Amino acid sequence: MEIIHISAELAPIAKVGGLADVLHGLSRSLIEKGHRVKIILPKYDLLDLSGVQDLEIVDSAHSFLFEGVECQSTLWLGRVDGIDVIFFESHDSRNFFNRDRVYGCHDDISRFLYFSAAALEYAIKQSCDIIHIHDWHTAIIASLIKKHYPESHTKTVFTIHNFAYQGVCVKEDLKKIDDADPSFIEGDYYNLIKCGIIYADHVTTVSPSYAHELLNSPISGGLQQTLQKYAYKFSGIVNGIDYHYWNPQKDPFLPANYSSTSLEKKEEVKKRLKKQFSLCDCQGPLVCAITRLVHQKGPELIKAAILRTVEWGGQFILVGSALDDETMRHFLNLKEAFKGSHYIHFELTYNEPLSHLVFAGSDLFIIPSIFEPCGLTQLIAMRYGTIPLARETGGLIDTVIDGKNGFTFGPPVIEALHGALDRAFETWYKAPQEWERLQSTGMAMDFSWNKPANAYLNIYNQLI
Ligand code: ADP
Repeated sequence: MEIIHISAELAPIAKVGGLADVLHGLSRSLIEKGHRVKIILPKYDLLDLSGVQDLEIVDSAHSFLFEGVECQSTLWLGRVDGIDVIFFESHDSRNFFNRDRVYGCHDDISRFLYFSAAALEYAIKQSCDIIHIHDWHTAIIASLIKKHYPESHTKTVFTIHNFAYQGVCVKEDLKKIDDADPSFIEGDYYNLIKCGIIYADHVTTVSPSYAHELLNSPISGGLQQTLQKYAYKFSGIVNGIDYHYWNPQKDPFLPANYSSTSLEKKEEVKKRLKKQFSLCDCQGPLVCAITRLVHQKGPELIKAAILRTVEWGGQFILVGSALDDETMRHFLNLKEAFKGSHYIHFELTYNEPLSHLVFAGSDLFIIPSIFEPCGLTQLIAMRYGTIPLARETGGLIDTVIDGKNGFTFGPPVIEALHGALDRAFETWYKAPQEWERLQSTGMAMDFSWNKPANAYLNIYNQLI
């Protein structure tokens, strides 16, 4: 099959969160299964081009329509970990992709409509079997294909990685690509996710439980009715993680490599990690969280987990990147309060190499999300023999099972979190064999891309 993904992110060269990992892992798995895959990505100025091989121009005069004007651009082809990537270089004077960031600009809607128009113009000429679009950034492509290329045999799959970001916009935005279709209106605005749901041939989200929540609870906001109307073409597939990249047996970021049969080496990693952050020797477990510090991830609950861990004589490492000043200030104050502590370490940045060390060197991984479409970090933690403690929401329900491979709690309140943490600490101190059972069950589970990639292939096959 010939599949083209169109996305705003791709790991490791343009990563903000899980979307980047999914594009990388799913594409590699589809290629391993014998399919032809390409990804189209903006050529951001922040791209880490050292991770791109054989970069060359494939079209120096790629043209497409935006705001009724013919725009010129350059298309590059390069390979990222064996995946063919088309990099779209804009020549627009507004410098849409030279902003030193992927998202968070005042004109994000224009930037990604512009990218969508350009990417579609390339993709449609390839007459591939499937165009797979991701999140609101590229959702408009589903309707553009149906309206401008009705003869095309190419089918579209639209994956919603996070329903919290919907691409809310106004008529003037959509007029830029000639598609201010009133059916996209939701409330007082136009909504790009709604456009994707209506026009894609199949719509997925990243876990069955999140799909169920979106269909049956108010978290989908005004779009619940739209989803229910199109439920016949909507399904949830749990993400995988790239087992080549996230592999404790080969991970180059670790001072010692290990598997489930050599966990004494995991202890070595833990020792090294503790030394690096001046954490003392102690009887308690090493607990961690690796996350964006945003409302979704439950920053208040993370803070409560840190304080409870100290009460139990455990240690905590937080690797967290806050996007807004207020949350950053909050955690900087907490860091200051624990200055000089040999029990707590705060790393308030985005640090990929360090994340590997912390996933591997910790005993317990906290993910108390308020909502979680899928969540990759609990999967990575299990792969590294670190037991997850998760709130029962979205993809966490589908992957962390209390008493089987982790600890879970229900309501997003501190008391419930404390209940699960207390059980975890009691298990650590009083039932080490039970602890080891949870750890080895998690390590033995298959969270690779193999099964999810097959599930996507089933959808692709049904469509074509
Ligand atoms: P989301 O996409 O909502 O942030 P996911 O769990 O789907 O959450 O994916 C998060 C990805 O980003 C994981 O690969 C995780 O390891 C990584 N990550 C998140 N925060 C950090 C951080 N502060 N430093 C390093 N990696 C991080």
